[in-house]
Amino acid sequence: MSRTWSSKKEASAWVTLTTNDSYALGALVLAASLKRVGTKHELAILVTPGVSQAMKAQLRAAFNHVEEVDVLDSKDVANLKLLTRPELGITFTKLHCWRLVQYEKCVFLDADTLVLQNCDELFEKEEFSAAPDAGWPDCFNSGVFVYKPSADTFSALIDFALIHGSFDGGDQGLLNLYFKDWATKDISKHLSFVYNMCSTATYSYLPALKQYGQNIKIIHFIGTSKPWLHQFNAETQLVSISETTTHLAPFLQTWWDLFCTHVHPVLSSEMTSIRLS
Ligand code: UDP
Ligand code: MN
Repeated sequence: MSRTWSSKKEASAWVTLTTNDSYALGALVLAASLKRVGTKHELAILVTPGVSQAMKAQLRAAFNHVEEVDVLDSKDVANLKLLTRPELGITFTKLHCWRLVQYEKCVFLDADTLVLQNCDELFEKEEFSAAPDAGWPDCFNSGVFVYKPSADTFSALIDFALIHGSFDGGDQGLLNLYFKDWATKDISKHLSFVYNMCSTATYSYLPALKQYGQNIKIIHFIGTSKPWLHQFNAETQLVSISETTTHLAPFLQTWWDLFCTHVHPVLSSEMTSIRLS
């Protein structure tokens, strides 16, 4: 806490979010992936009361800063139903990332993203930079974005949300309405798709994946089939792949390799220490 009062601002941080222990697994693997590529930036995470104490201890070990926040629910049940993803109301909690004012510049990453190559250059971009959404490329996908923490922007976003709501019931609809000139105003705020490769997109354009796949810097496992929900064979150390995820096999395997090397061993020892104490 005393850090908040230190005169020197931390320069910059990667920021993610988890509201439960399940997404926390994603966040831990994401942190391991950022360290593997040697990022020079700090790691921060927003957590809600839904995360267990044991998991918070793990997150504190992996992240430089753990910020406890309340769940902001859009209460927009009708719109969320349209998306058939009622749990996405929770992503309004993401807005709290603007309150991390101890940092000058941040890059938000969903907990279901995985960093494959160093992309510290993202911190040279200005607010609000994001990559196109694969479903509607005139909208950005809100799983990866560059922003500048600010209490004023946070309250402006909340006021805006109360008046306008979100057209998809989640943070992406809201942020696209708020930063509405993203599509047309300044091309330098369009991040390349390689910084937010939405896993479902490649299925509809496999030749592009074949051509450009080695350039991918951040993969984003959007949708309901998260890496930690895939079956994993502990004997062969291989993740099970279904017909619809064949093209994602190397990425899912990388996620699981990082999980087995960096996350599972510490999780297990933590569980043991809890039982012993
Ligand atoms: N999230 C969370 N708990 C939930 C749902 C979402 O913590 O129950 C956070 C998490 O960081 C997640 C982000 O909100 O990556 C956005 O949700 P998700 O990635 O599931 O949406 P998608 O990218 O599939 O549209
Ligand atoms: Mn996501």
